[in-house]
Amino acid sequence: MQPTLDRCAACGGPLTDRYYTLTDRPERYCARCIATRPRCATCGAPLGAQYWRLHDGRLQCAACHATAVYDPAVARALFDETVTGVVAQLGLTLNVGVAFRLVDAPTLEGLRAGGSAPPPVGYNTLGLYQRRNHIRAIYMLYGLPRLGFRTTVAHEYAHAWQGERCPLLRDDELREGHAEWVAYYHLRWLGCVKAANRMLTSQHPYRPALERVLALERQLGVAGVNAYLTRAE
Ligand SMILES: [Zn+2]
Ligand SMILES: [Zn+2]
Ligand SMILES: [Zn+2]
Repeated sequence: MQPTLDRCAACGGPLTDRYYTLTDRPERYCARCIATRPRCATCGAPLGAQYWRLHDGRLQCAACHATAVYDPAVARALFDETVTGVVAQLGLTLNVGVAFRLVDAPTLEGLRAGGSAPPPVGYNTLGLYQRRNHIRAIYMLYGLPRLGFRTTVAHEYAHAWQGERCPLLRDDELREGHAEWVAYYHLRWLGCVKAANRMLTSQHPYRPALERVLALERQLGVAGVNAYLTRAE
């Protein structure tokens, strides 16, 4: 095994009688670091000696920083790749299309607060689809790790599709479940089967909604799920 497992991943101190871990991660931490260290704004890990402070005040751990999307041009390319993938895999095309903006945390929070309902407890807003007047846009938080960025874009793109194809759909659980289902399929399309499977066991507040849509898929098939949404209210 890796020798680092007998040391705290944040302070480097030896782990004697007990240690703590975060869900789905190999790092181990001592009780003191779990209790006292500031946490990574993205993944929640206690921060070690090396971390980054983003211009909007978020602190980012080395692991999240390693694949983080900071550059708007890189973000735009990843956004386009993700949309192309979702269209190729699930056939979710748009007529009008959707704009893309990379924003910081206060901007995203301002957009969210000016929109409709607040997110459920335990849900961190990473991206947002909004239609205001005639502008339809997906806003994404800058500095997200690559895979989380793509998963969130897939989720928000599903909301953009719903906005065009299911204008009568008011069932929030079905909307969020379908968006999670699109994100789940995008992870599988990328070959990230482990990350996709984690969505099936996570404590995420949208997991019951995802399970509802997966149950629909078992009855109707993939294309049938999308057709069902266009008729649902
Ligand atoms: Zn420690
Ligand atoms: Zn992190
Ligand atoms: Zn959503």
